[in-house]
Amino acid sequence: MKTVLQAMDLYKEFDGTEVLKGVDFSIREGEFVAVMGQSGSGKSTLLYNISGMDRASSGSVLFDGEDISQFDDERMSALRLNRMGFIFQQSFLLRTLSIRDNIVLPGFKARKRSREEVNAFSQELMERMCISHIADHDIKKVSGGQLQRAAICRALINHPEILFGDEPTGALNSAVTQEILDLMNEENERGTAILLVTHDAKVAARAERVVFLSDGRIVDEVVPGKYARDHRVNREERMFKWLESLGF
Ligand code: ADP
Ligand code: MG
Repeated sequence: MKTVLQAMDLYKEFDGTEVLKGVDFSIREGEFVAVMGQSGSGKSTLLYNISGMDRASSGSVLFDGEDISQFDDERMSALRLNRMGFIFQQSFLLRTLSIRDNIVLPGFKARKRSREEVNAFSQELMERMCISHIADHDIKKVSGGQLQRAAICRALINHPEILFGDEPTGALNSAVTQEILDLMNEENERGTAILLVTHDAKVAARAERVVFLSDGRIVDEVVPGKYARDHRVNREERMFKWLESLGF
């Protein structure tokens, strides 16, 4: 399978302090990878640098074989809009727009599909996330869980080749977490690669592969189990054993 994203010997420093210390990492087409590690180990920094939201101090990042560290801002924005999706711990929705408009906006901006197709897909995503009844409500009146469901719909509207998540379920209760993870798993089965930063072993157990970051380096990697829904419980148990063995 094709490699979607590859980071080679990635270093990042802030004010003379190295936060990433030579990370080599790659993710294949349609793969689901979780990144775990203690707070401050560099997980967010890694995600920002391999998704082109920030620029590494040295090393290179290839997206679909092209070195994105050479891209200018315009080309980088186009790549992020058209081929990547992002979801963070906060939803970052525009407060002046409805849920529906927040979701369709990147679809209209990308112009990859007709407005009708974008509208239809946003409707489908909202129904799958059980937020279609609040699509046109004042956004200031909906709950945090609903905002986060909308944020994942927005991230998926352009059928990204890769979805990046930085602790996207960190502030949610377990019911909403499960729903968001289910949608991620479904999109992943349809071919979207996922790179998910999390400190929650239950969340990481959904991934095919888990990499463990410590002090700016990848120190371990584990395959929780063969990718199949029925093996989920089993995988979680294995994940917990593995984490215990790392002293997590
Ligand atoms: P994690 O996501 O694993 O908790 P981060 O990648 O957010 O870790 O941060 C790793 C280290 O880099 C921390 O020590 C943090 O203070 C530092 N750091 C992250 N971003 C910045 C920044 N913009 N400026 C200065 N230091 C930063
Ligand atoms: Mg972080």
